[in-house]
Amino acid sequence: MIVLGGGAAGLMCAIEAGKRGKAVIVLDHNKEIGEKIRISGGGRCNFTNLSMSSDHYVSRNPHFCKSALARFTPHDVILMMEKHGIRYYEKEEGQLFCKGSSGEVIRMFQRECSDAGVDVFTRCRIDSIRKEGRFIVGTNFGTVESSSLVIATGGVSYPKLGASDSGMRIATQFGLKVTALKPALVPLTFGKGDLKNLGELSGVSLDAIVICNKSRFEGKILFTHRGLSGPAILQSSLYWEKGNPVTIDLLPGKDPYSLFIARHGSKMKIENLLSAYLPGRFAKKWCELSIKPKPMNHYTERELREIAHRLRHWQIIPEGTEGYAKAEVTLGGVDTEELSSRTMEANKVPGLYFIGEVMDITGHLGGYNLQWAWSSGYAAGQYA
Ligand SMILES: Cc1cc2nc3c(=O)[nH]c(=O)nc-3n(C[C@H](O)[C@H](O)[C@H](O)COP(=O)(O)OP(=O)(O)OC[C@H]3O[C@@H](n4cnc5c(N)ncnc54)[C@H](O)[C@@H]3O)c2cc1C
Repeated sequence: MIVLGGGAAGLMCAIEAGKRGKAVIVLDHNKEIGEKIRISGGGRCNFTNLSMSSDHYVSRNPHFCKSALARFTPHDVILMMEKHGIRYYEKEEGQLFCKGSSGEVIRMFQRECSDAGVDVFTRCRIDSIRKEGRFIVGTNFGTVESSSLVIATGGVSYPKLGASDSGMRIATQFGLKVTALKPALVPLTFGKGDLKNLGELSGVSLDAIVICNKSRFEGKILFTHRGLSGPAILQSSLYWEKGNPVTIDLLPGKDPYSLFIARHGSKMKIENLLSAYLPGRFAKKWCELSIKPKPMNHYTERELREIAHRLRHWQIIPEGTEGYAKAEVTLGGVDTEELSSRTMEANKVPGLYFIGEVMDITGHLGGYNLQWAWSSGYAAGQYA
């Protein structure tokens, strides 16, 4: 069996096939395997999430991922980590991170590959692929052939780490559909006007609820020198389309109208009241942009109700995203309609498999993308 791509999905698949006694080679054009594992989770690899369901995945077919996720679960990943003595901790909302570094996960895969008899070739350029009964892959090291070929070349994001659209091009070469691709889990950028008004808030972060195209995410938002980032914004980028607003509740779980009414008799400025709940720099800027400055006791109740509403529904229309260079994942990929959800094999091309991020399955932030890579790799590894 030939696996193209020595990332999370390819390595898992190779190990599983190796354990079944298959002769397996992994080909990767990078100098090292698992480069994205290395940088994942800020170097600590958020390797899974205890709260697992298909609701955390975006795909044209939201049901496709269920079968593989049920056969290799977060619990199975944990067992694998524990077997190798990798210590981990739960950061928030079920997100599991390594206590040490993501290098431990890569070393775990290297050991598992060697135990399963998997041969890994790095710095290996793929020059051609054709099928003449068997798959024949031309590389800078020569030609290799096999009855099964697993494409685990990942998404397009982070090209500086060797990411490429090779997997999608291979799918097209074999007549399989690929859905539209776009960067996701990516910071959103301001248009000119917002950048002028809000650019100076770079570095400010606050707790919020972000709603985009009916999807709702609670968490931190962070102002950058180009726009907005932070977990709640990255999540909403999975659903954002050009022209869409993002609506931000700046005071989640609070009732700003009641806060105002409690001080309605005072001469306090609203920005000072808000500074108790929001970062001072932000409260000042938001008031400057959104309300007429006057003492609290000069506002009518109706005006206060209106200001409270604006605080819970602050709208920004992003200009764009920071693109593939900064995106954690690629949304879209090989259409799941073309693949078996049990084996990941292409329905039209026996022996050809697609696993991991190259497929049109994208997880939320929080360990879901690596879990998909492990689960889909495991599934294909039982059959390929
Ligand atoms: C900065 C960052 C942080 C992230 N953090 C997390 C996290 O904490 N938790 C999480 O769940 N997800 C995280 N992700 C997403 C996660 O890393 C990916 O979804 C996951 O690695 C995908 O696994 P994969 O095996 O499908 O692809 P990859 O891990 O990208 O592996 C693909 C492999 O294929 C190789 N390749 C590509 N093209 C070719 C070619 N033409 N010839 C030969 N080899 C090729 C590449 O070199 C690479 O080794 C993060 C992503 C980024 C960019």
